[in-house]
Amino acid sequence: MTTRRATPPDLDPGSAELLALVRRRGALTRAEMTEATGWARVTVTSRLERLLADGLLVGDEAVVQGRGRPATRYRLDSSRAMQLVADVGALGMRLARVDLEGNIEDTRSIPVEIARGPEEVLALVRKGFDELAAAGGDRPLWGIGISLPGPVDFAAGKVVSPPIMTGWHAYPVKDTLQEWYACPVLVDNDVNAMAIGELDGLPPGTRDLLVVKVGTGIGCGIVCGGQVVRGAAGSAGDIGHTAADATGVRSGPVDCRCGKRDCVEAYTGGWALARDLEAELDRPVSVDDVVDLLGRGDPTALRLVGDAGRILGASLATAVSLLNPSAVVLSGQIAVAAGDHLLTSVRERIYARALPLATRTLDISISREWPDSGVQGLARQVGELVLSGS
Ligand SMILES: [Zn+2]
Repeated sequence: MTTRRATPPDLDPGSAELLALVRRRGALTRAEMTEATGWARVTVTSRLERLLADGLLVGDEAVVQGRGRPATRYRLDSSRAMQLVADVGALGMRLARVDLEGNIEDTRSIPVEIARGPEEVLALVRKGFDELAAAGGDRPLWGIGISLPGPVDFAAGKVVSPPIMTGWHAYPVKDTLQEWYACPVLVDNDVNAMAIGELDGLPPGTRDLLVVKVGTGIGCGIVCGGQVVRGAAGSAGDIGHTAADATGVRSGPVDCRCGKRDCVEAYTGGWALARDLEAELDRPVSVDDVVDLLGRGDPTALRLVGDAGRILGASLATAVSLLNPSAVVLSGQIAVAAGDHLLTSVRERIYARALPLATRTLDISISREWPDSGVQGLARQVGELVLSGS
Protein backbone atom coordinates (compact mmCIF):
# COMPACT_ATOMS: atom_id res chain seq x y z
CA MET A 1 0.00 0.00 0.00
CA THR A 2 1.58 3.23 -1.13
CA THR A 3 -1.54 5.37 -1.39
CA ARG A 4 -1.32 8.59 0.59
CA ARG A 5 -4.37 9.32 2.68
CA ALA A 6 -4.48 13.12 2.54
CA THR A 7 -8.07 14.23 2.13
CA PRO A 8 -9.45 16.98 -0.10
CA PRO A 9 -9.86 20.41 1.53
CA ASP A 10 -13.19 21.05 3.20
CA LEU A 11 -14.08 24.21 1.27
CA ASP A 12 -16.46 26.87 2.53
CA PRO A 13 -19.30 27.62 0.06
CA GLY A 14 -17.76 30.94 -1.06
CA SER A 15 -14.37 29.43 -1.92
CA ALA A 16 -16.09 26.51 -3.64
CA GLU A 17 -18.07 29.00 -5.74
CA LEU A 18 -14.92 30.86 -6.78
CA LEU A 19 -13.25 27.56 -7.68
CA ALA A 20 -16.29 26.57 -9.75
CA LEU A 21 -16.07 29.90 -11.61
CA VAL A 22 -12.41 29.31 -12.51
CA ARG A 23 -13.17 25.75 -13.62
CA ARG A 24 -15.98 27.02 -15.83
CA ARG A 25 -14.24 30.07 -17.31
CA GLY A 26 -10.55 29.11 -17.23
CA ALA A 27 -7.75 31.27 -15.77
CA LEU A 28 -8.89 34.62 -14.34
CA THR A 29 -7.25 37.68 -12.84
CA ARG A 30 -8.33 39.04 -9.46
CA ALA A 31 -10.13 41.90 -11.21
CA GLU A 32 -11.99 39.49 -13.49
CA MET A 33 -13.06 37.46 -10.45
CA THR A 34 -14.38 40.59 -8.76
CA GLU A 35 -16.30 41.56 -11.88
CA ALA A 36 -17.75 38.10 -12.48
CA THR A 37 -18.88 37.51 -8.89
CA GLY A 38 -19.89 41.00 -7.83
CA TRP A 39 -18.18 40.36 -4.48
CA ALA A 40 -16.17 43.00 -2.61
CA ARG A 41 -12.44 42.99 -3.43
CA VAL A 42 -11.58 41.91 0.09
CA THR A 43 -13.96 38.94 -0.16
CA VAL A 44 -12.44 37.82 -3.46
CA THR A 45 -8.96 38.19 -1.94
CA SER A 46 -9.73 36.10 1.14
CA ARG A 47 -11.36 33.31 -0.88
CA LEU A 48 -8.56 33.39 -3.44
CA GLU A 49 -5.95 33.19 -0.66
CA ARG A 50 -7.76 30.17 0.72
CA LEU A 51 -7.66 28.37 -2.66
CA LEU A 52 -4.00 29.32 -3.17
CA ALA A 53 -3.11 28.02 0.31
CA ASP A 54 -4.80 24.69 -0.49
CA GLY A 55 -2.87 24.52 -3.75
CA LEU A 56 -6.08 24.28 -5.77
CA LEU A 57 -5.33 27.46 -7.71
CA VAL A 58 -1.94 28.58 -8.97
CA GLY A 59 -0.92 31.95 -10.37
CA ASP A 60 0.58 32.06 -13.84
CA GLU A 61 3.07 34.70 -14.93
CA ALA A 62 1.72 38.22 -14.84
CA VAL A 63 0.28 39.44 -18.12
CA VAL A 64 -0.10 43.06 -19.20
CA GLN A 65 -3.65 43.89 -20.12
CA GLY A 66 -4.42 47.13 -21.94
CA ARG A 67 -2.76 50.07 -20.22
CA GLY A 68 -3.05 48.63 -16.70
CA ARG A 69 -0.40 47.08 -14.52
CA PRO A 70 0.61 43.47 -15.14
CA ALA A 71 -1.95 41.13 -13.59
CA THR A 72 -1.58 37.51 -12.50
CA ARG A 73 -4.04 34.96 -13.83
CA TYR A 74 -5.11 32.15 -11.53
CA ARG A 75 -6.00 28.68 -12.80
CA LEU A 76 -6.94 25.31 -11.36
CA ASP A 77 -3.86 23.18 -10.64
CA SER A 78 -5.34 19.94 -11.97
CA SER A 79 -2.21 18.02 -10.97
CA ARG A 80 -2.68 18.95 -7.29
CA ALA A 81 -4.20 15.53 -6.53
CA MET A 82 -5.20 12.34 -8.30
CA GLN A 83 -8.51 10.48 -8.56
CA LEU A 84 -9.05 6.80 -9.30
CA VAL A 85 -12.01 5.40 -11.22
CA ALA A 86 -13.17 1.88 -12.10
CA ASP A 87 -15.73 1.04 -14.78
CA VAL A 88 -16.75 -2.52 -13.94
CA GLY A 89 -18.66 -4.52 -16.56
CA ALA A 90 -20.03 -8.06 -16.61
CA LEU A 91 -16.80 -9.64 -17.89
CA GLY A 92 -14.08 -7.08 -17.25
CA MET A 93 -13.17 -3.73 -15.76
CA ARG A 94 -11.38 -0.62 -16.93
CA LEU A 95 -9.50 1.37 -14.33
CA ALA A 96 -8.00 4.83 -14.72
CA ARG A 97 -6.00 7.41 -12.83
CA VAL A 98 -7.24 10.90 -13.67
CA ASP A 99 -6.30 14.44 -12.65
CA LEU A 100 -8.66 16.90 -10.96
CA GLU A 101 -10.10 17.99 -14.30
CA GLY A 102 -10.82 14.38 -15.22
CA ASN A 103 -8.03 14.02 -17.79
CA ILE A 104 -7.02 10.37 -18.07
CA GLU A 105 -3.37 9.82 -17.11
CA ASP A 106 -3.13 6.03 -17.12
CA THR A 107 -5.47 3.06 -17.58
CA ARG A 108 -5.63 -0.68 -16.89
CA SER A 109 -8.02 -3.27 -18.34
CA ILE A 110 -8.56 -6.36 -16.20
CA PRO A 111 -10.74 -9.35 -17.15
CA VAL A 112 -13.02 -10.59 -14.36
CA GLU A 113 -16.55 -11.94 -14.18
CA ILE A 114 -18.82 -9.80 -12.03
CA ALA A 115 -20.56 -13.00 -10.88
CA ARG A 116 -17.42 -13.93 -8.91
CA GLY A 117 -18.84 -11.67 -6.20
CA PRO A 118 -17.93 -8.39 -4.50
CA GLU A 119 -14.98 -9.61 -2.38
CA GLU A 120 -13.04 -11.01 -5.31
CA VAL A 121 -13.92 -8.22 -7.76
CA LEU A 122 -13.20 -5.40 -5.29
CA ALA A 123 -9.89 -7.02 -4.33
CA LEU A 124 -8.87 -6.76 -8.01
CA VAL A 125 -10.06 -3.14 -8.11
CA ARG A 126 -7.89 -2.43 -5.05
CA LYS A 127 -4.84 -4.09 -6.59
CA GLY A 128 -5.25 -2.10 -9.83
CA PHE A 129 -5.89 1.16 -7.95
CA ASP A 130 -2.78 0.66 -5.82
CA GLU A 131 -0.66 0.12 -8.94
CA LEU A 132 -2.09 3.19 -10.67
CA ALA A 133 -1.62 5.32 -7.54
CA ALA A 134 1.96 4.13 -7.05
CA ALA A 135 2.78 5.10 -10.65
CA GLY A 136 1.10 8.49 -10.23
CA GLY A 137 3.86 10.27 -8.34
CA ASP A 138 3.82 11.91 -4.95
CA ARG A 139 0.28 13.32 -4.94
CA PRO A 140 -2.62 12.72 -2.59
CA LEU A 141 -5.66 10.69 -3.65
CA TRP A 142 -8.77 12.85 -3.34
CA GLY A 143 -11.60 10.83 -4.81
CA ILE A 144 -12.74 7.47 -6.09
CA GLY A 145 -15.51 6.51 -8.49
CA ILE A 146 -16.76 3.05 -9.39
CA SER A 147 -19.55 1.97 -11.72
CA LEU A 148 -21.26 -1.42 -11.69
CA PRO A 149 -23.51 -3.21 -14.21
CA GLY A 150 -26.69 -3.24 -12.12
CA PRO A 151 -29.18 -0.92 -10.37
CA VAL A 152 -27.36 1.29 -7.85
CA ASP A 153 -28.74 3.15 -4.83
CA PHE A 154 -26.69 6.27 -5.60
CA ALA A 155 -26.87 7.82 -2.11
CA ALA A 156 -26.11 4.61 -0.20
CA GLY A 157 -23.48 3.42 -2.69
CA LYS A 158 -24.93 -0.08 -2.87
CA VAL A 159 -26.16 -2.35 -5.63
CA VAL A 160 -29.87 -3.14 -5.34
CA SER A 161 -31.45 -6.42 -6.50
CA PRO A 162 -29.15 -6.90 -9.51
CA PRO A 163 -30.54 -9.49 -11.96
CA ILE A 164 -27.17 -11.04 -12.81
CA MET A 165 -24.74 -10.03 -10.05
CA THR A 166 -24.65 -12.95 -7.64
CA GLY A 167 -23.76 -11.87 -4.09
CA TRP A 168 -23.78 -8.12 -4.79
CA HIS A 169 -27.22 -7.23 -3.42
CA ALA A 170 -26.83 -4.56 -0.69
CA TYR A 171 -23.05 -5.13 -0.47
CA PRO A 172 -21.48 -1.95 1.03
CA VAL A 173 -19.33 -1.00 -1.98
CA LYS A 174 -18.97 2.66 -1.00
CA ASP A 175 -18.19 1.93 2.67
CA THR A 176 -15.61 -0.71 1.72
CA LEU A 177 -13.70 1.63 -0.61
CA GLN A 178 -13.97 4.52 1.85
CA GLU A 179 -12.46 2.33 4.54
CA TRP A 180 -9.56 1.33 2.28
CA TYR A 181 -8.77 4.77 0.88
CA ALA A 182 -10.24 7.33 3.33
CA CYS A 183 -11.49 9.66 0.60
CA PRO A 184 -14.88 10.51 -0.95
CA VAL A 185 -16.29 7.58 -2.98
CA LEU A 186 -19.00 7.67 -5.61
CA VAL A 187 -20.84 4.54 -6.81
CA ASP A 188 -22.96 4.65 -9.95
CA ASN A 189 -24.55 2.37 -12.53
CA ASP A 190 -22.23 1.65 -15.47
CA VAL A 191 -24.47 3.09 -18.17
CA ASN A 192 -25.20 6.26 -16.18
CA ALA A 193 -21.45 6.90 -15.96
CA MET A 194 -21.07 6.16 -19.68
CA ALA A 195 -23.87 8.60 -20.52
CA ILE A 196 -22.01 11.43 -18.77
CA GLY A 197 -18.75 10.41 -20.45
CA GLU A 198 -20.39 10.38 -23.90
CA LEU A 199 -21.32 14.06 -23.51
CA ASP A 200 -17.63 14.84 -24.17
CA GLY A 201 -17.91 13.45 -27.72
CA LEU A 202 -21.14 15.23 -28.63
CA PRO A 203 -21.74 18.81 -29.80
CA PRO A 204 -21.31 21.31 -26.93
CA GLY A 205 -24.64 22.11 -25.31
CA THR A 206 -26.08 18.59 -25.75
CA ARG A 207 -28.31 18.12 -22.72
CA ASP A 208 -30.77 15.38 -23.69
CA LEU A 209 -29.26 12.05 -24.51
CA LEU A 210 -29.82 8.30 -24.50
CA VAL A 211 -26.78 6.02 -24.29
CA VAL A 212 -27.38 2.34 -24.94
CA LYS A 213 -24.72 -0.09 -23.86
CA VAL A 214 -24.75 -3.18 -26.05
CA GLY A 215 -22.35 -5.46 -24.25
CA THR A 216 -22.96 -8.81 -22.61
CA GLY A 217 -26.31 -7.33 -21.55
CA ILE A 218 -28.29 -4.25 -22.58
CA GLY A 219 -28.52 -1.08 -20.49
CA CYS A 220 -29.60 2.48 -21.15
CA GLY A 221 -28.43 5.73 -19.55
CA ILE A 222 -30.78 8.71 -19.71
CA VAL A 223 -29.63 12.32 -19.54
CA CYS A 224 -32.43 14.92 -19.41
CA GLY A 225 -31.62 18.62 -19.22
CA GLY A 226 -27.97 17.78 -18.49
CA GLN A 227 -28.86 15.58 -15.49
CA VAL A 228 -28.70 11.79 -15.27
CA VAL A 229 -32.13 10.30 -14.61
CA ARG A 230 -31.66 7.57 -12.00
CA GLY A 231 -35.27 7.05 -10.94
CA ALA A 232 -36.79 6.44 -7.52
CA ALA A 233 -34.88 3.20 -6.88
CA GLY A 234 -31.92 3.61 -9.25
CA SER A 235 -33.32 1.38 -11.96
CA ALA A 236 -34.25 4.01 -14.59
CA GLY A 237 -33.14 3.08 -18.11
CA ASP A 238 -33.22 -0.68 -17.60
CA ILE A 239 -34.53 -1.20 -21.12
CA GLY A 240 -32.87 -4.64 -21.43
CA HIS A 241 -35.53 -6.32 -19.34
CA THR A 242 -38.57 -4.67 -20.91
CA ALA A 243 -40.77 -6.66 -23.29
CA ALA A 244 -39.28 -6.95 -26.79
CA ASP A 245 -41.22 -6.35 -29.99
CA ALA A 246 -39.70 -8.89 -32.39
CA THR A 247 -42.57 -8.72 -34.89
CA GLY A 248 -41.38 -9.61 -38.37
CA VAL A 249 -37.80 -10.18 -37.19
CA ARG A 250 -37.74 -13.23 -34.94
CA SER A 251 -40.18 -15.70 -33.47
CA GLY A 252 -40.30 -16.25 -29.72
CA PRO A 253 -40.68 -16.95 -26.96
CA VAL A 254 -37.10 -16.77 -25.71
CA ASP A 255 -36.02 -17.22 -22.09
CA CYS A 256 -34.08 -14.37 -20.49
CA ARG A 257 -31.35 -14.79 -17.89
CA CYS A 258 -33.40 -12.62 -15.50
CA GLY A 259 -35.99 -15.39 -15.25
CA LYS A 260 -38.60 -13.70 -17.47
CA ARG A 261 -39.31 -14.32 -21.16
CA ASP A 262 -38.96 -12.21 -24.29
CA CYS A 263 -36.95 -9.37 -22.75
CA VAL A 264 -35.13 -7.07 -25.20
CA GLU A 265 -31.85 -8.45 -23.88
CA ALA A 266 -32.90 -12.04 -24.57
CA TYR A 267 -32.77 -11.15 -28.31
CA THR A 268 -30.14 -8.44 -28.46
CA GLY A 269 -27.59 -8.83 -25.64
CA GLY A 270 -24.12 -10.20 -26.30
CA TRP A 271 -24.97 -13.40 -24.43
CA ALA A 272 -28.08 -13.87 -26.63
CA LEU A 273 -26.05 -13.33 -29.82
CA ALA A 274 -23.52 -15.90 -28.52
CA ARG A 275 -26.37 -18.36 -27.92
CA ASP A 276 -27.78 -17.84 -31.44
CA LEU A 277 -24.36 -18.04 -33.12
CA GLU A 278 -23.62 -21.23 -31.21
CA ALA A 279 -26.81 -22.78 -32.63
CA GLU A 280 -26.03 -21.64 -36.18
CA LEU A 281 -22.32 -22.44 -36.21
CA ASP A 282 -22.70 -25.62 -34.15
CA ARG A 283 -19.73 -24.86 -31.85
CA PRO A 284 -19.21 -23.09 -28.50
CA VAL A 285 -19.30 -19.27 -28.85
CA SER A 286 -18.47 -16.75 -26.07
CA VAL A 287 -19.32 -13.03 -25.98
CA ASP A 288 -15.68 -12.31 -26.86
CA ASP A 289 -16.06 -14.64 -29.86
CA VAL A 290 -19.11 -12.62 -30.97
CA VAL A 291 -17.03 -9.43 -30.84
CA ASP A 292 -14.27 -11.17 -32.78
CA LEU A 293 -16.66 -12.54 -35.45
CA LEU A 294 -18.28 -9.11 -35.89
CA GLY A 295 -14.86 -7.49 -36.19
CA ARG A 296 -13.96 -9.95 -38.95
CA GLY A 297 -17.23 -9.35 -40.82
CA ASP A 298 -18.61 -12.86 -40.36
CA PRO A 299 -21.87 -12.90 -42.40
CA THR A 300 -23.88 -14.92 -39.84
CA ALA A 301 -22.84 -12.64 -36.98
CA LEU A 302 -23.66 -9.55 -39.06
CA ARG A 303 -27.10 -10.91 -39.98
CA LEU A 304 -27.89 -11.67 -36.33
CA VAL A 305 -26.70 -8.25 -35.16
CA GLY A 306 -28.91 -6.64 -37.84
CA ASP A 307 -31.92 -8.50 -36.42
CA ALA A 308 -30.89 -7.44 -32.91
CA GLY A 309 -30.70 -3.82 -34.10
CA ARG A 310 -34.28 -3.91 -35.40
CA ILE A 311 -35.59 -5.30 -32.10
CA LEU A 312 -33.53 -2.82 -30.07
CA GLY A 313 -34.59 0.01 -32.40
CA ALA A 314 -38.28 -0.75 -31.82
CA SER A 315 -37.82 -0.30 -28.06
CA LEU A 316 -35.66 2.78 -28.50
CA ALA A 317 -38.34 4.32 -30.74
CA THR A 318 -40.68 4.31 -27.73
CA ALA A 319 -38.00 5.86 -25.52
CA VAL A 320 -37.27 8.52 -28.15
CA SER A 321 -40.96 9.42 -28.42
CA LEU A 322 -41.24 9.64 -24.63
CA LEU A 323 -38.06 11.61 -23.91
CA ASN A 324 -37.24 13.48 -27.15
CA PRO A 325 -33.43 13.31 -26.82
CA SER A 326 -31.19 15.13 -29.32
CA ALA A 327 -28.79 12.18 -29.49
CA VAL A 328 -28.84 8.40 -29.16
CA VAL A 329 -25.38 6.84 -28.73
CA LEU A 330 -24.82 3.11 -29.16
CA SER A 331 -21.88 2.00 -27.06
CA GLY A 332 -20.40 -1.17 -25.57
CA GLN A 333 -18.13 -3.78 -27.11
CA ILE A 334 -20.81 -5.36 -29.34
CA ALA A 335 -22.02 -1.99 -30.68
CA VAL A 336 -18.51 -0.78 -31.45
CA ALA A 337 -17.55 -4.10 -33.14
CA ALA A 338 -20.77 -4.17 -35.21
CA GLY A 339 -20.57 -0.48 -36.14
CA ASP A 340 -22.74 0.49 -39.13
CA HIS A 341 -24.40 -2.95 -39.28
CA LEU A 342 -26.07 -2.28 -35.93
CA LEU A 343 -26.46 1.47 -36.46
CA THR A 344 -28.36 1.09 -39.76
CA SER A 345 -30.95 -1.34 -38.38
CA VAL A 346 -31.46 0.63 -35.15
CA ARG A 347 -31.90 3.85 -37.17
CA GLU A 348 -34.36 2.25 -39.55
CA ARG A 349 -36.68 1.17 -36.71
CA ILE A 350 -36.40 4.42 -34.74
CA TYR A 351 -37.24 6.53 -37.80
CA ALA A 352 -40.08 4.20 -38.80
CA ARG A 353 -41.72 4.15 -35.38
CA ALA A 354 -40.90 7.26 -33.35
CA LEU A 355 -42.81 10.52 -33.71
CA PRO A 356 -41.50 12.64 -36.62
CA LEU A 357 -41.12 15.66 -34.34
CA ALA A 358 -38.94 13.60 -32.00
CA THR A 359 -36.64 12.38 -34.80
CA ARG A 360 -36.38 15.61 -36.82
CA THR A 361 -33.13 16.71 -35.22
CA LEU A 362 -32.15 13.37 -33.68
CA ASP A 363 -28.55 12.19 -34.14
CA ILE A 364 -28.00 8.43 -33.81
CA SER A 365 -24.39 7.31 -33.69
CA ILE A 366 -21.86 4.74 -32.50
CA SER A 367 -19.81 5.86 -29.49
CA ARG A 368 -16.74 7.98 -30.18
CA GLU A 369 -15.57 7.70 -26.58
CA TRP A 370 -15.53 3.89 -26.12
CA PRO A 371 -13.84 2.27 -24.19
CA ASP A 372 -13.20 5.30 -21.98
CA SER A 373 -16.71 6.80 -21.71
CA GLY A 374 -17.35 5.02 -18.40
CA VAL A 375 -14.15 6.17 -16.71
CA GLN A 376 -14.59 9.68 -18.18
CA GLY A 377 -18.11 9.93 -16.78
CA LEU A 378 -16.93 8.76 -13.38
CA ALA A 379 -13.97 11.16 -13.43
CA ARG A 380 -16.28 14.07 -14.17
CA GLN A 381 -18.65 13.17 -11.33
CA VAL A 382 -15.91 12.53 -8.78
CA GLY A 383 -14.29 15.87 -9.72
CA GLU A 384 -17.61 17.62 -9.02
CA LEU A 385 -17.96 15.80 -5.70
CA VAL A 386 -14.43 16.63 -4.56
CA LEU A 387 -14.19 20.24 -5.76
CA SER A 388 -17.70 21.41 -4.92
CA GLY A 389 -16.86 21.33 -1.22
CA SER A 390 -20.03 19.33 -0.54
ZN1 LIG B 1 -34.80 -10.22 -18.75
